[in-house]
This record gives sequence, structure tokens and C-alpha cells, in this order.
Amino acid sequence: MYLKDYEFWFVVGSQYLYGPEVLETVASRAQEMADKLNASGKLPCKVVYKVTAKTNKEITDVIRDANHDEKCAGIITWCHTFSPSKMWINGLASLQKAWCHFATQYNREIPNEEIDMDFMNLNQAAHGDREHGFIGARLRTPRKVIAGYWQDPDVQDRLGKWMRSAAGAAFSRGLKVMRFGDNMREVAVTEGDKVEVQAKLGWQVNTWPVGKLAATIDAVTESEVDAMMKEYESLYDIATDNIESIRYQAREEVAMRKMLDAEGCCAFSNTFQDLYGMKQLPGIATQHMLATGYGYGAEGDWKVSAMTAIIKFMTQGQTGGSAFMEDYTYHLVPGQEYSLGAHMLEVCPSVAEGRPRIEVHHLGIGDREDPARLVFEGRAGKAVVVSLVDMGGRLRLICQDIECVKPIMPMPNLPVARVMWRALPDLKTGLECWILAGGAHHTVLSYDVDAEQMRDWARIMDIEFVHIGPDTTTEELEHVLFLSDLAWKLK
Ligand code: MN
Repeated sequence: MYLKDYEFWFVVGSQYLYGPEVLETVASRAQEMADKLNASGKLPCKVVYKVTAKTNKEITDVIRDANHDEKCAGIITWCHTFSPSKMWINGLASLQKAWCHFATQYNREIPNEEIDMDFMNLNQAAHGDREHGFIGARLRTPRKVIAGYWQDPDVQDRLGKWMRSAAGAAFSRGLKVMRFGDNMREVAVTEGDKVEVQAKLGWQVNTWPVGKLAATIDAVTESEVDAMMKEYESLYDIATDNIESIRYQAREEVAMRKMLDAEGCCAFSNTFQDLYGMKQLPGIATQHMLATGYGYGAEGDWKVSAMTAIIKFMTQGQTGGSAFMEDYTYHLVPGQEYSLGAHMLEVCPSVAEGRPRIEVHHLGIGDREDPARLVFEGRAGKAVVVSLVDMGGRLRLICQDIECVKPIMPMPNLPVARVMWRALPDLKTGLECWILAGGAHHTVLSYDVDAEQMRDWARIMDIEFVHIGPDTTTEELEHVLFLSDLAWKLK
């Protein structure tokens, strides 16, 4: 399924108190709002007006239907009039989809001449949305609250961004990850509890033999390789004479796609420690798969692989780019304090400034032939880095705001793609916070999502969220982590 195929059901709360005329007006306005929201061009998914709910049964029925509808990624509720919230309890107690309480109002202005008690009874969102908000708080039901006028672009933008997080949650619940080889020997942060992850996030993380991949690579035909080479040539500049290396990568990509697609997997991991029967560590093969939406994690890191796939799904149609990334080295010159991110091969070209080059260089790690890879610089702009870690008994999602810059030096002998950034609030504080929170060296770097969207996703998945942003201090973060540790042990 694509992001645009998901729907969000608009459920408007009311009651029988006001008579049929008011209810008809509410229903027609709700339909009008759904239509105009869909026509705004701000929303990645469709809003479907479902019901002006007046009874416990209507609410329970629509929520049961939402739970069972594969296309429905969440419900958006709003109270045009007053909707007594006890009638929402049974429905909300059974809700399994994401929920946004849209605290808006049909009319923008209070009409000075027109306003009387009939107007007040029809237009009382300020009244109804408070009753509605209480029951969400009372039931401790995870929800997003978005307040503001429904025709304002900034409000529509926020609704659209939340939709992306909610659809990302729906995608997560069906995500399959294919592992080629195990976790890199002795590495801790890339490990994790696959049973806990499946229960919490829905991920099916399973292993397939590297030997089967090697046999599938060997069985790829020359014409399949030719077709993949054509695609590479259309997207990238060939800057090597070693065409055979590129062709072997194309062969690997065709084989990996065959195996992933046969199992419905949208993400994969591999490791340089287990390349049984393979001539090269996949470089451009992995990079090009990433660029078409697959998730990837190196050294057996299936957590970052799945997160990459989810963030790529959430950001479909956006053009900033999202990549598997690794913190490598620092530039610690005062006033020019930057992190340099890269990987030994596998950075996604969706974050490239300009057209990537295909180069072939020796790779000292993995004991195989020289692999073809894409080399490029990442673009400048605001972004985030995201890391999911297993704290033992719970998962923690860490998101840090960063400001990417054009790399301040050309680094002509660095044979891999590179992205340079300034961590927020500054390199030293940001680094101290990241390390205190236990964030990994592997991340998803994205120019298309922000911390609010990752917080929304974490809330829907019911996992811990830590944000390191422009106002974070080490002292406050330590305190938050301490309290959060206690809270999540009790939860
Ligand atoms: Mn790595």
C-alpha cells in the first residue's frame, strides 16, 4: 500500500438535544469540511466523513468498523455541538487506530449581528471539544490534539503531518524485515528484542540464508543486469572503468529485490561478516534500493532498517530525502563544530546534492572484491536524526534536530557519500545529550520529518520518546531520562 491509499475517518460528535435541523446542518457542514480539506492539497491522505454521532451505538459501530478497515489509518474527531462524552467511552475503549482530536470550528468569526442562542447551540465547539477532551484524558487514550481554524494552511499542514505519522504507524504494524546474516559480532546497540518489537510495533523480523541470496545472485540473467544498468545510467554518472563491478552490484540488487518482494519485505539488513558466496558487499545495490523506498541497516541493524522504511513511507511524495546514516567523525574547530556522517557504502542518494557518481574503490572491511558505490555530498538544510534503542523491557525513540551544511571541505580521498551537520542545540551539548540517552551510531537522517511527527508516531506505538532540540540542556535531559525510566517501569 502507498501512503495516499490510506484514509482518515472524520467522526463528528453531537446528540439529539438540538433537533433534526441542527443535526442536518452539522452533517452537511462536516461533509463540506472533509471535501475542502481534501481539496486543499495539504493532506497526503483522504479525509472521509463518516457520521454525525448521536449515540453510544453509533460511536461504537464506527470505531469497530475503523478498527477492521485496512485502509483506515485513523479517526479524526470534532464536536460541532456538545456531545456528552460518556457515550464515547465504549467506542474509545476499543479503539485500535490512531486518533486526532481536531479542535476547530466551522465559522471563523463570531458574527456580531447574527449571534443569538440558536447560533450558540449550533456553533459550540469551544464547549463540546472540552467535554470531548476530558474523556480522552480520563481514559488515558493516546491522541493528538490539533487546535485552530480548519481552513488555515498552518493547521492543515499540521493535520497532514500527523496523518503521515499515523499512516507510518499503520505501515509499521505490517512491516516485514529480511535479515541476511546476524548482528555484527559483539555490538550492543544494534541488538534488540524481536518479540517485544513485534508485539509493540508489529515488525516481523526474520532471517534468510545468505547462501540462498548468493545462489539467487548467481541465477540473475544478463538481461536483468542490463535493465538495472540502464536505470543506474539514467540516474547516476559513471566515474569508473570497472563496469564489471557495477554489473555485479546490479546483479545483487536484482537478487535482493526478488527475495524481499517474494516475502513482502520492505526492509533488510546484512553484514560484512557474513557474505558467504558473494563477491562484493552490496554498495550501489543497497543505495538504489534505499532510493526506491526500501529500508536498510548495516551490520545486522534491523532496527534502523525498519525505521528507515517507516520514515520513507511517511514521507512519500516529499523531496528532502531520508537515509540510513552513521555518525563517523567530528570537526571540532571552535565556531565550526560539525559532525561528519557517512557509511562504508550504503548512504541513500535521496539526500544527495546534485547527481551522484558511481565509483569503485577498495574496501578494507569484508574481505571481498572492490564494490561499486554512489559518492555524493548531502544537501544543506534542516533535518533530524532518529535512533530506536532497546532499553530492556521497553523501546526508546531518540530524535535530534540537526542543521545540515554543504561539507566545508571537499575531502577528495574519501570514497563514500558524506553528509555534514551541526547538531542542536550545539555539538557539545547535543552530543552529551545523545550519549546520555543511549542513541546509536546508526540513525535515520531525514530532511522530511520533524520531531513532532516522530513524537506522534512514538505516541501511537506506545513507546518512549526523547527529543534533543534547540532548547535542550544536559541537566534537564538527565532529569527527564531519570523520571521517564521510573514511569516506563511502572507502565
Ligand atoms: Mn555501521
